[in-house]
Amino acid sequence: MNRNIIITGGANGIGRCTAETFAAAGDRVFIIDKDEAAARRLAERFAENIEVYAGDVAEKAALDRFVAFVKERCEQVHVLVNNACFGAGGLMDCSYERFSYALAMGVTAPFYLTQQLMDVFAPGASVINIASTRAFMSQENTESYTAAKGGISALTHAMCVTLSGKVRVNAISPGWIETAHYHEGGEIPEYTEGDKKQHPAGRVGVPEDIAKAILFLVSDEASFIDGQNLCIDGGMTKLMIYHNDCGWKME
Ligand code: NAD
Repeated sequence: MNRNIIITGGANGIGRCTAETFAAAGDRVFIIDKDEAAARRLAERFAENIEVYAGDVAEKAALDRFVAFVKERCEQVHVLVNNACFGAGGLMDCSYERFSYALAMGVTAPFYLTQQLMDVFAPGASVINIASTRAFMSQENTESYTAAKGGISALTHAMCVTLSGKVRVNAISPGWIETAHYHEGGEIPEYTEGDKKQHPAGRVGVPEDIAKAILFLVSDEASFIDGQNLCIDGGMTKLMIYHNDCGWKME
């Protein structure tokens, strides 16, 4: 479609699937990823559509260089997908520095990239922030990731209001998404019946579930959807579990 798309963390996993989906639609994709080898492999496979910049989104200098890299190559940006993030632990083991790193990667980078691109967003442009169901529920010792995902969720409605009439800003909260197919040499594990049944949809998610939703949300068909956080988790967060009820048992 000849749009210019930016994806952070686009060399593997959900980001890579999204990059490949946009590339297949004829768009031009710019990726920043700290996994330089994976990024180069992707750029070689999609030489006409995907360009990569190796860098860590938690570092301001890397973001500045990446923005310059993009602006040298195109005049307008149609889509920014803030995707790069991972967990750095929680109260039991996460240092001040690691916690700050998680927020720099998961919240500051989405904010700063959006700000630096404000002068080049095309009419009808979209920002998609990748949050998580972990913004709303938790396992123990996950505070750094959960805080980052809560932050990017709130950033979504704030940016939607500030960029009103110029850029639509939405979030997607994936649930359990198996990304092995989008990692070099990755192997899909065998899932138990419980793994599947805890999803009302009857299966674990795949990166395509998220990529297709991103393509819809940035399209004209979704032009009245703004400031939302779309939960894509096969219904897992809607399933109420009581020990010893409806076949669920804590062992
Ligand atoms: P992944 O680990 O498979 O891929 C993440 C990519 O981001 C990798 O290429 C990695 O090199 C890159 N990356 C990580 N930190 C970076 C940094 N600081 N700078 C630059 N690049 C960086 O991850 P994924 O599972 O595809 O997750 C993608 C997004 O989806 C993340 O925001 C994650 O929190 C979110 N998410 C994933 C799941 C899931 O089950 N997979 C569930 C909920 C939310």
